[in-house]
Amino acid sequence: MDNLPSPALELTPPEISAWRQGSDGPGRDTPDYVQSFDSGRPGPSVVVSALVHGNELCGAIALDRLLRSGLRPEAGRLSLAFVNVAAFERFSPAAPHAARFLDEDFNRLWAPAILDGPRQSQELARARRLRPLFDAADLLLDIHSMSTTTEPLILAGPSDKGLDLAVALGRPATIVRDAGHASGPRLRDYGDFVDPRSPRNALLVECGQHFAAASAEVACDVTLRFLATVGSISARTAAARGNLQTRAPQAPRVIEVTDCVTAASDRFAFVQPFRGLDVMPRAGSLIAVDDGRRIVTPYDDCALVMPVERPRAGATAVRLGRRCT
Ligand SMILES: [Zn+2]
Repeated sequence: MDNLPSPALELTPPEISAWRQGSDGPGRDTPDYVQSFDSGRPGPSVVVSALVHGNELCGAIALDRLLRSGLRPEAGRLSLAFVNVAAFERFSPAAPHAARFLDEDFNRLWAPAILDGPRQSQELARARRLRPLFDAADLLLDIHSMSTTTEPLILAGPSDKGLDLAVALGRPATIVRDAGHASGPRLRDYGDFVDPRSPRNALLVECGQHFAAASAEVACDVTLRFLATVGSISARTAAARGNLQTRAPQAPRVIEVTDCVTAASDRFAFVQPFRGLDVMPRAGSLIAVDDGRRIVTPYDDCALVMPVERPRAGATAVRLGRRCT
């Protein structure tokens, strides 16, 4: 990841040390860098997470901004979590992609067999520490960004309930229905979040390019929309803190992921620099070569979801999707 071209850094890593001490104060077992507030009124337990990937600054900026503004839930409990802070603390403008994780991808650990298993890593230690927070969450918004300059999108997971919640937000307009990665389950796919019989629900938002100023604005906007939609704050509070009035809801564009292309070698290379959400009109179009293996699109009007410029062997290179609406 370090050998990607250096992008323009429009965002500055926020100073988050003020949020290290859990907000419940001494004596409560709140993990570091989790700020949790109980409204004292009935309502959902909501978690908004940032820095699951340490180089994805927009979510940290959004949470820092909301905390500094004194945002509190008006119903239920709200927890704002800075997740992989150890990786974030390694962030360097000289190698801005390198802080994604320390030992392994935090967002591929979310199955009991992994969390309860014998493996050890810095990310697993943090995941085990934060697991009770996510176990207790009725609703989760997990904020991310992308390596490519792709428009914002929501990864709604495989079930109708994820799609319904994504549509209810009103923005971002592009919603991807997907089942995740071969290399391990994401936080948004943990436990009940993907069980269609459970009311518990999660969304992952990709706010734009990692270091683009616009990504931080999207992260703030989506967070306020999410909190108002699930009833943690009122629509009036959300409107007062953001510019939701000027960002009208958009008609959703839903893409269903049908295929996940996993790199078989470190020599995986796309045949051209795709931006993400590119649509290939003809089935059989060559999109990449992986150590001699030709990767072609399986059907007409195939969308390329989140291409990774230089994936490692075993990692997702791109997902292929079909437009549903
Ligand atoms: Zn991410």
